[in-house]
Amino acid sequence: MSNGFEVRQAAVVGAGTMGRGIVISLANAGIPVLWLDTNAQMLTAGLEMAAEFWAQQVVKGRISTAQAEQSLALVQAVDSYAALADVDLVIEAVYENLALKQEIFRTLDSTLKPDAILASNTSALDIDAIASATRRPAQVLGLHFFSPAHIMKLLEIVRGAQTSPAVLDAARQLGQRLGKVAVVAGNCPGFIGNRMLKTYANEARKMLLEGAVPQQVDTALQAFGFAMGPFRMYDVVGVDLEWRARTLAGQGMDNPLVQVDNALCELGRFGQKAGQGYYHYAAGSREACHDAAVDALVAQIANDLGYRRRLISDQEIVERCLLALVNEGAKILEENIAANSHDVDLVYLNGYGFPAAVGGPLSWADARGLASIQARLEDLRSKFGEHWQAAALIERLVAAGKGFADVEQGRV
Ligand code: NAD
Repeated sequence: MSNGFEVRQAAVVGAGTMGRGIVISLANAGIPVLWLDTNAQMLTAGLEMAAEFWAQQVVKGRISTAQAEQSLALVQAVDSYAALADVDLVIEAVYENLALKQEIFRTLDSTLKPDAILASNTSALDIDAIASATRRPAQVLGLHFFSPAHIMKLLEIVRGAQTSPAVLDAARQLGQRLGKVAVVAGNCPGFIGNRMLKTYANEARKMLLEGAVPQQVDTALQAFGFAMGPFRMYDVVGVDLEWRARTLAGQGMDNPLVQVDNALCELGRFGQKAGQGYYHYAAGSREACHDAAVDALVAQIANDLGYRRRLISDQEIVERCLLALVNEGAKILEENIAANSHDVDLVYLNGYGFPAAVGGPLSWADARGLASIQARLEDLRSKFGEHWQAAALIERLVAAGKGFADVEQGRV
């Protein structure tokens, strides 16, 4: 790697959903991995899952038996931090809890050799707060993989305030070695992708309360070309994930936008894994079937919240969801969280099922012309409120007759 940094030996802490995919991804690239989890059963299950994955690859003719054996031999379970002393890179993928991650980083810092890089797979926690638990913040960063980590192409490299350029270079090269599309993101809640997803999903949730039903929202966005509408996506990842986080934090439960999610979870409708969520699923099937009971639940909650529901067109659904993505993407660009509009588009194309033919949300906006985007945002602001205020960057670009593609490092 540049500056002589090469990952010869990696470690992963955490053998859950993400840890498993990350380990497979590293071993697929020929990188030896030490694997640590406080729960020995999770490690055993993780090793079994990895072995099964490679066995399936053999059955599908994608790799040879010898390659499968080689990959498996690269993975070694360990039971102490002392065993990690000489690794070049560790990727932490334990529960999403800041205090827990800080404790782990403190231990890693005191155990690993001084030039080792310490990375967290956190989805949204503050990388600087994690780095502050160590005496080597220049060597701490986020490596945000997407689920399943051995299949999804996107890797968000999250740069902390003190992460050194050499460490970012090393991370970029690791991304390349793993065959990922790597994008560097600044440190803010949700980084690039999940920050945009939040405004988009919230717009979809608002439209449920205003009069749409989940299947209509999903169908409209899928007709535009999204791999999956937001409510089908929540069913796949688990409606309960955010609900549990809200419950644990004791925050955000009374937000009107999450009342439908809350009600679904209280009914045990956690999504595909529970056989029911925003949709229902026949036993053993992943096919999302319309559920009139969910439409009735949505209408009931909206009425209780005082909404007067109306018919919402598919066009309005698509436009509001896309414009929410564009306006948040513009703020991300303006704050230099992303280096350029192409990076924002890459994140959305490779991590969130945005239609490739459209080129990404900011290319879509450039193709429509930012003056027209600004006019639509202004119209939405007058109808629905200040959260539709156009990002200052859009106003500056329109005034200069330019597009998002002309922005580099936050500058026009
Ligand atoms: P998970 O619950 O599936 O697995 C977490 C694992 O961490 C468990 O095996 C647990 O035994 C282990 N663990 C807990 N405390 C530990 C400790 N002190 N030392 C060692 N191991 C410990 O979680 P997950 O879904 O794999 O998520 C892991 C991280 O990845 C979280 O920060 C999450 O936000 C992030 N993430 C998750 C997804 C996703 O879709 N699941 C996507 C991107 C990022």
